[in-house]
Amino acid sequence: MKLRVVTGNRHKVQEFRSILAILGHDLVVEPLKVSNVVECGATYYQNAYRKAFAGVRRDQYRGECADIILADDSGLEVEEFGRVPGVHSARFSYAGLSERAAMSRFLLDQGTSLAHGQFICWIVAFLPGMPQCVSAYGSVHGTVRPDPHGTSGFGYDPLFVPDGYTSTFAEMGPQMKDRISHRSRAIASLLSMLESKDSLRP
Ligand code: IMP
Repeated sequence: MKLRVVTGNRHKVQEFRSILAILGHDLVVEPLKVSNVVECGATYYQNAYRKAFAGVRRDQYRGECADIILADDSGLEVEEFGRVPGVHSARFSYAGLSERAAMSRFLLDQGTSLAHGQFICWIVAFLPGMPQCVSAYGSVHGTVRPDPHGTSGFGYDPLFVPDGYTSTFAEMGPQMKDRISHRSRAIASLLSMLESKDSLRP
């Protein structure tokens, strides 16, 4: 059974592969690219649902046999500043900068050298023959710093130090990040739900 991840982000696909391997699953992971999905939901769940459902529709139009089709929506929330950028993480901009550079400048301009934050991930999955979707959630708390450290990963990884660690996600690299991240927790939760329903049998 294949698992098709609706995303254009190659880092996410790689993380799904790595996390599933760490969790001992041999599901084949393939990206499913769907254009024109507008992430206009008010919540991570709504955006994940929109992306996953667009993937299901595209699959049906192409007449392909459906495997598990899922999407995640994720983001960083900085607690001291009203949980920004949250669901808008991919589109966060400040002082003419975007995403990570914008967050660094924003924290520096507020005089903040260390803020509390969390990464959130919601996954929505459609299974063959099941009319309803299933969903799962994962989060990881830590500190958000303006000065980037490390080169691996993507997005805000160089700014985020998970609780209990001294290095950023980008410094610790995928071997460690993929064991403790919001995405790994959401995937583990989804898999245990599917296993309890016996939904992973071919
Ligand atoms: P989306 O879930 O594809 O809409 O992405 C949301 C945005 O959140 C991404 O563009 C990243 O900036 C950020 N983000 C989500 N997950 C991660 C992560 O694991 N590391 C770093 N940044 C992330």
